[in-house]
Amino acid sequence: MDGNIEEAKSKSILVTGGAGYIGSHTTLQLLLGGYRVAVIDNLDNSCEEAIQRVAQLAGKYGGNLTFHQADLRDKEALEKVFSVEKFDAVIHFAGLKAVGESVAKPLLYYNNNIVGTLNLLEVMIAHDCKKLVFSSSATVYGQPKEVPCTEDFPLCAVNPYGRTKLFIEEICCDAQRADPEWKIMLLRYFNPVGAHPSGIIGEDPRGIPNNLMPFVQQVAVGRRPELTVFGTDYKTKDGTGVRDYIHVMDLSDGHIAALSKLFETNDIGCEVYNLGSGRGTSVLEMVAAFEKASGKKIPLKFVDRRPGDSETVYASTEKAEKELNWKAQYGIEKMCRDQWNWSEKNPWGYRSPETTD
Ligand code: NAD
Ligand code: UDP
Repeated sequence: MDGNIEEAKSKSILVTGGAGYIGSHTTLQLLLGGYRVAVIDNLDNSCEEAIQRVAQLAGKYGGNLTFHQADLRDKEALEKVFSVEKFDAVIHFAGLKAVGESVAKPLLYYNNNIVGTLNLLEVMIAHDCKKLVFSSSATVYGQPKEVPCTEDFPLCAVNPYGRTKLFIEEICCDAQRADPEWKIMLLRYFNPVGAHPSGIIGEDPRGIPNNLMPFVQQVAVGRRPELTVFGTDYKTKDGTGVRDYIHVMDLSDGHIAALSKLFETNDIGCEVYNLGSGRGTSVLEMVAAFEKASGKKIPLKFVDRRPGDSETVYASTEKAEKELNWKAQYGIEKMCRDQWNWSEKNPWGYRSPETTD
């Protein structure tokens, strides 16, 4: 570890979207791994408090973190960030991610996610920084015909959010094909849940949560009366949808593994990896695990399937295990324990009832 820290010390990483859920946890792990980190975030779906807490958790490494409040669509602002510091690599989390909103506001999603990424790639080229880790998603598998999903499955987008991920993956591969100096890792996340075990940082979505676990968490603390379970007639063990939940700390460590590989290997090209646990868990199993971890009863309301939802999705993790030397460690019990610890300590996330929407 000390050897790795020595090596990391000379490296400076730009993290876009680093105030957000996955970005904040990954920033912390980078700092603890000895990297210097600059975060750029427009705080559209996050707040600066998250950055302050990351610095606090990082202890003696907290001084290696800088924060720039800026939008990736503002190229001048990006230029400014790159002109004050030389980055060895970029981890690109920044983007809008709500599926329903992307259907209602497709142009906003194309503008934010795609224009933001194009600006980033252009400014990276201008400053000769050509190592990138990008947050893609299992959504690019569409409704997979079989499981587990391997990286070579056919890809398809089922909504504008998914299409932005698919387009960005292709843009990255084209850029790399045109200029082999690029080294790019496309990481397809499955379902990130949980929080840092301290309960000091965690997920704090704005508005009504779209995803299962943030919703469950808000029911547990009394912010919402019940969980709506979408679909009870899937051909799964209990009729509810099955997904691959991965602890956000495991996911963060997957980024460190990907980054190390970028620095250590010469001929990466544009490579894609699934980051999941490789296990499928149903909605009811997840609710039961959360009830056990929290001691809270989650009232349920059963309704029809949510349009566009897949029945069962989980990852093949073989490629990441073999090539990144990374494997998820934590099961759903730990995910739920840490999620509950965060929500019990921060029932209103980083905000208060007065400032929460
Ligand atoms: P998040 O919303 O918590 O974090 C994203 C951050 O990016 C936010 O802090 C937001 O303010 C910032 N941002 C958005 N647009 C920006 C812009 N134009 N300029 C600067 N900052 C901007 O989301 P997250 O869950 O941490 O997700 C991070 C990435 O991982 C996203 O790209 C998301 O699509 C992807 N992803 C997330 C999940 C998931 O379930 N959470 C699954 C698969 C992929
Ligand atoms: N889900 C649910 N109620 C909710 C949110 C989600 O029953 O309020 C279900 C959803 O139908 C799916 C699973 O939980 O089977 C995970 O949904 P999520 O939106 O978190 O992830 P995704 O479907 O994008 O993988």
